[in-house]
Amino acid sequence: MTCDYYQLATPGVQGLHPYQPGKPVEELERELGISDSIKLASNENPLGPSQVAIKAVQAALSESARYPDASGFKLKKVLSEHYGYAPNTLTLGNGSNDVLEMIGRAFILPGDEVIYSEYAFVVYMLVAQASGAKAVVTAAKNWGHDLAAMAAAVTDKTRVIFLANPNNPTGTWFSEDALRVFMAQIPERVIVVLDEAYAEYVTEADYVTGLTMQDEFANLIITRTFSKAFGLAGLRIGYGVANAAITDLLNRVRQPFNVNIPALEAAAAVLSDTDYLQRSVAINRAGLAQLEKGLAPLGVSWIPSVGNFITVDCGANAAPVYAALLQEGVIVRPLANYGMPNHLRVTVGLPDENSRFLTAFTKVLKSGNKG
Ligand SMILES: *Cc1c(COP(=O)(O)O)cnc(C)c1O
Repeated sequence: MTCDYYQLATPGVQGLHPYQPGKPVEELERELGISDSIKLASNENPLGPSQVAIKAVQAALSESARYPDASGFKLKKVLSEHYGYAPNTLTLGNGSNDVLEMIGRAFILPGDEVIYSEYAFVVYMLVAQASGAKAVVTAAKNWGHDLAAMAAAVTDKTRVIFLANPNNPTGTWFSEDALRVFMAQIPERVIVVLDEAYAEYVTEADYVTGLTMQDEFANLIITRTFSKAFGLAGLRIGYGVANAAITDLLNRVRQPFNVNIPALEAAAAVLSDTDYLQRSVAINRAGLAQLEKGLAPLGVSWIPSVGNFITVDCGANAAPVYAALLQEGVIVRPLANYGMPNHLRVTVGLPDENSRFLTAFTKVLKSGNKG
């Protein structure tokens, strides 16, 4: 091979690194020759999928020789009935990450500025960089978004601002008032993407979904997912909600058959399984409390979280702790690629998975493996 294909890639792509997913259980067990390991690394729903969703998938499989409905008519109708969306405000994605990418393709040119926060979800950086945009990364405040600094960073070149509420990997969130004050400062020509992947878990009184503000702020795109509280991460389905013009533009860059038939059917079905959603939220609240209670005596601190995970400060480089936990069959998520080398993100599991993590973590810290 004499051609240097790296030189052929666009400058944005030349600087990219592939997304680092949580380590799969099968991979760890293969490497260590162990079994019974647990994965608390990817903010997946520990309940497994809803039985209602499984039935819908099974029924949908007989349609697999056909292409899916490119317009997603049925799911959009069910979503609209459930949440009150107008169908011409919905963009379906192969996961909400797909919608984030569509936003990049539809709106961001090389040289544009894209604003997001330090410690924000890594996909915003990937979208900005792949588009050849200039990333404007504002310093975090108490691990969360400094909305005032983000508003102050807007220039004539700003095209898109990415916000996560709650944010992953920090679990931080901001209030209705804070969002409203922020939006009032942003020119209408700047698109604000509000990623609400964990919205279903939040019970704080002054948290509000941006869906309530879209009539007031036309530049607001909300993204939602079925991957977390609805337990369908493996099927890949999420969506965006935006005004009709933005929605039209996003659907122009959307691949026509981006969401597969089982995902469309499972998502439409799971919305009616209110019992599953309630159990997801309840088990998460109890699990967060269980983890905090178990962490408190260990002398480590953590970032208070409203998501389905908790990010723990090991007080020193967390890489040895991560490695030692793997030896115990417990997979968590190191955050060095987020610029948080001392932290580990732990997804809330079932009660015995949380116990298993706490026992292993205690053992690892006591053995002096504190970085
Ligand atoms: C998990 C997550 C998503 C969801 O991604 P999908 O592509 O819908 O699975 C989006 N944003 C954030 C911040 C997340 O943590």
